[in-house]
Parts: sequence; structure tokens; C-alpha cells
Amino acid sequence: MTTRFAAVTEKLRTLERRTRPVAPDVADSLARRWAELPDHVRNPAQLMGQKLTGCEGTHGVFPSCDFACKPCYHSADANKVRVDGRHTIEQVDAQMSFLRAARGPGVHAQLIGGEATLLDPEDHAEALEVMRRHERFPMSFSHGDFDYDYLERLAVRPDGRRRFDVLAFAIHIDTTMHGRRGAPHPETEAELDVFRQRTVDMFERLRREHGVRHHLAHNMTVTPANLDQIAGVVQRGRRMGFRVFSFQPAAHVGNERRWDDDYRALTDDAVWHEVERGVGRSLPFRAMQMGDLRCNRATWGLWTDDRYTPVFEDDDPHDLAARDALYRALPGNFLFASRASMGARMARIVLANRRDLSTAAAWARRLIRRGGGAKAFLHGVHPTTYVMHSFIDAADVGPAWEALQRGERLEAPSLRAAQERLEACVYAMGHPGSGQIVPACVQHSVLDPEENAELAVLLPRRGARTPRPTRGGPRIPVSAG
Ligand code: SF4
Repeated sequence: MTTRFAAVTEKLRTLERRTRPVAPDVADSLARRWAELPDHVRNPAQLMGQKLTGCEGTHGVFPSCDFACKPCYHSADANKVRVDGRHTIEQVDAQMSFLRAARGPGVHAQLIGGEATLLDPEDHAEALEVMRRHERFPMSFSHGDFDYDYLERLAVRPDGRRRFDVLAFAIHIDTTMHGRRGAPHPETEAELDVFRQRTVDMFERLRREHGVRHHLAHNMTVTPANLDQIAGVVQRGRRMGFRVFSFQPAAHVGNERRWDDDYRALTDDAVWHEVERGVGRSLPFRAMQMGDLRCNRATWGLWTDDRYTPVFEDDDPHDLAARDALYRALPGNFLFASRASMGARMARIVLANRRDLSTAAAWARRLIRRGGGAKAFLHGVHPTTYVMHSFIDAADVGPAWEALQRGERLEAPSLRAAQERLEACVYAMGHPGSGQIVPACVQHSVLDPEENAELAVLLPRRGARTPRPTRGGPRIPVSAG
């Protein structure tokens, strides 16, 4: 009898742990993240350390790409490295395992090189499975210039069974890219619309034929040359089927030979203004923040008919109160849980936050009113997020990072700003060898050149000139391949 009572008690304890709104290791990771953040980004709107531990990306896994973009963030040696499935999978495994231990579960992570679809589809699929095993939400980064056959082989096993329920891709399409089949040297963004739609259509076909859902983000590098075409991309692209539109103002990062303009002429405000022009209204980006606003601006919202409605207006105190209520209720690393425990967790969340229900109801009424009323919502709702991510120039990243390693603060305004942004970074890469997690700016500006030079020696591409091995710097263990 006593044994049975003990067994039942233990089962209840396990159930209680599994259905906690915030899993204990997520709570620990968030607390660590919050403690690491500099004071200037610790505010009520901050998602880092309160609700998220950040985004991640892979590095040194398949640096090569078959396009030639201007600018290109890859180092000059990237294309001298052959794509090697075994190496990719081993590196992804090591990096994600390290990040899982440091940053907890439920993190969005990009499978990024290089061009992801240069991997054999089986290797690509295995890399995504490895990322999922380490409790990451993987997103493959691609130029979108692949065929349906590749996508199908990625998503469906040779025996016809579905390998993934959902695939996430960041699709980079814009006029800075050279090499696309059918538009090797595009002159206008409008002529690329057919390729944007074609890519989404392939994923739609995959959903129809195999039931694999998709989450697609559209990426666009912005230079002085295509700045005034952003609004058109936003307007024409809004019904294509992308869930996220992400804009990267070009920075002086990566291969210097691919810098074809003075990118410093671009300001964040000018780029964001063009996105707003395309959407047809202002885009509030202070209500929910990801790290430093000089790095990231984001507006989450909904399209109903021809109207875009942000989830929160950042100048409405009632919306900010609703945001606070959402942050109280939302579990860390956004609902990362097995389906089995999701219902119970949701019930516990509602119960624990029942005092906020009236705030939530008032917010929902405002949202519906702003979105054009219930009728407009019945016609269809398309959630869309607009994001701007601004890399820091390599000339600032190098000295700023080196000084941070020495615990030194720099006085020059641009270097001080770079240090503040690097400390608040939300997009990081893991180095299991050195035990470091570094901002992607540091990866591209400081570490990539040596890393890729080493890889070009260890995994030389046939026909590529082999660079001289470097001394020191980051070492990447490479499989025999
Ligand atoms: S990668 Fe660079 S630009 Fe992006 S969040 Fe980190 S520091 Fe900021």
C-alpha cells in the first residue's frame, strides 16, 4: 500500500514538473541571459532574458555558395571549401549540443552557411533532424533557387513517409544577388517577383501533396541602389505567402571585393520608413524588443483585407499593459513543449493569470476594431512580421570585440556603440571548442576568415586555389570527409 502511494505521488510530481508553464531549465537559461544583458536594454519590452534566450546560427558547416552577391558577408575563402555532408552534420551536432546546454531548449536556430541547398537533401534533412534533437526550431537559409524535386527529397523519406510536419526556410531574394537561374543579373526587384512566388508555390505544393506545412521568411539586403524598391516588394509580396519580411541594410562586412557602394549612406530610419511606406502605415517597434534597437526592429501584426494591424501600438498605454500581461503569461522560449503536455500547460497558464483575462479581452476588442471589425477578420487573417536587422561594420566590430575580451570600454562613439550592441546581441553562434558564444557580427567580421582558410585546407574544393593555412585562431575539428 505504502509502495503504491509512493508511486502515485512520484507520478503526480513528474506530471507537475512536466506541465509547469515555464520548464525549470528554460527558467534558468532565461535568468542567466537576463543577468548577462547590459542595463540599456533591460526594459519591460525586452524579450531577451524575459521570454527568449536568443536566436542561433551555425558556422563553418558549409561556407560555400553558388551565387555571387554584392555585398556578401562570407569571407574570401568561403567558396574554396567543398560541401561535405558528414562534416556539416558533425559540426551542427557539436554546436547545437553546446548551445542547448548554454541556452536551454526551444530556440530558433538557422542552418546557415553558405547555401543550404548545396547539401545533398539527405544530409540537409539529417542536419535539421540533429537540430531538432537538440530542441532547436531549425530554419534553413537559402537563395530559393532549387527545384521541387530537391524540396520533396528533403521533406519526404525515400519510402514516401513524411520526414517533417513543418519546414522553415529563410528565402533570400533581391537584386544584390547574381547567379539566379532565369535572372542572373537582375536590375529591378519587380522582375524577381516571379521567383519569389515560384518558391512559395513549391512549398504550397509540398503541403498539398505530402501535408508538410511551411514557415517562410523573405530576406532582402538593402543597399542605396534598391532602397526605394522596398515599398514595392512589401506591397506586391504581401499576398505571396511569406510570414516574415526581413530587411538587412548592407554593412561593410565580409569579402571587401564584393562591396560595391558606400553602405554607410543608409540609415535605419530610411530603411524602416520604406517598409512602412509599403505597408501603408507606421510600424511600432518599441512595444516588443529583441536586444538593442540599433540592431533589431520588429513589428508583429496581422493583415485583414487591405489593412495591417500591429499586435501592440507602442504609444497606447492600454496596449503596453496588455503586453505586460502577455509577458507574464507567456512561457519562456514560447511554448516549447511536447503536444502531450501543451493542453495542461495552457490550462495552468490561464488559471495562474486569470486576473489578466479582462485586460486580454479589452486588447482583443481593440485589435478587432483596428483591424476593420469582425467581418474583416472573417474574410481571412494573415499574420505577418516585419523585421530589420542591421549588422555592424567589420571595422568597428574587430576593435570593439577585442576590447570587450580584455574587459575594456572604448570611448570613440562608434566603438562604444558597437560594444553595447555586441553585449546585447540576440543572434549568436556557438564554439564548443573554446566554450564561447559569439555574436554573428563577430563570427563574420573576426572569426570567419581564419575559420574558412582552415576549412579550405582541410576540405579543399576541386579546382579552387588552396589558401595558406593560418596560425592560431579558431580551430574547427573536421571529419575525414
Ligand atoms: S549579430 Fe550583430 S547586429 Fe545582430 S544582434 Fe548581434 S550584435 Fe546586433
